[in-house]
Amino acid sequence: MSKLKDKVAIVTGASKGIGASIAKYFAKEGASVVVNYASSKEGADRVVKEITSKGGKAVAVQADVAKPAEIDRLFAETKKAFGKLDVLVNNAGIYEFSPIENVTEEHFHKQFNTNVLGLIFASKAAANQFGPEGGSIINISSVASTFAPPTSAVYSATKGAVDTATKVLANELGPRKIRVNSINPGMVETEGVHTAGFAEGEFRAQIEAQTPLGRIGQVEDIAPAAVFFASPDSAWITGQSLVISGGLS
Ligand code: NAP
Repeated sequence: MSKLKDKVAIVTGASKGIGASIAKYFAKEGASVVVNYASSKEGADRVVKEITSKGGKAVAVQADVAKPAEIDRLFAETKKAFGKLDVLVNNAGIYEFSPIENVTEEHFHKQFNTNVLGLIFASKAAANQFGPEGGSIINISSVASTFAPPTSAVYSATKGAVDTATKVLANELGPRKIRVNSINPGMVETEGVHTAGFAEGEFRAQIEAQTPLGRIGQVEDIAPAAVFFASPDSAWITGQSLVISGGLS
């Protein structure tokens, strides 16, 4: 039953939201999990405690993925804690919407540095650290890369870049038995979505009206797919993007 027994996984941005849920699902399936966070130590410690109190293995490691030197430290600390690496979930991400006339360089770089630069450099570090049996990289993209809602030019572009990097890295790393796939969620109720003000009101109502299954997602709608991509159940799947959005596309 333990699909990830003896696996070691890093989940970036796992102090809350989708990342925290993936970390808990991974631990439940037997993985040792590195719960990465940028600033929410309390949230990350809470996730670790929840895992370890049920007999699972997890450590919290602070690192801002927008800074490659901190990514190197994250991977070094993973090696120190668990000795190896099998799975990387590139989940850490920022979403800020803005009409094009208000877009600033700061708005652009903040999102691209976390969502794209961070993902590329973490993937580079993972490819170096995976053993001869390879590994699995799971990128958390978004349905926004294809749904393309107004005022999301920068955010949606970061996720378009994630989709393309997923396919490129799958082609490039396949010969080393490293699989690379993405999960592209629709709107999921998380702390970040509440903070952004998307969880209530007009935007949510519009999304739900266009969603065949008629609701936004919960983190539990996403995490099982991450377990699938991390496990041997998906051994012959790479370079794919799985949209999980209640049918919104
Ligand atoms: P969230 O609730 O805002 O949580 C974001 C997580 O990422 C937190 O743990 C945060 O850590 C971490 N993080 C942010 N910047 C970081 C950085 N520079 N370095 C390391 N960690 C960082 O977000 P979410 O809604 O769960 O979204 C997670 C991912 O899913 C993102 O990539 C997002 O684009 C994608 N996604 C979300 C939705 C949605 O509707 N929720 C839909 C599609 C795709 P701190 O708290 O320490 O800052």
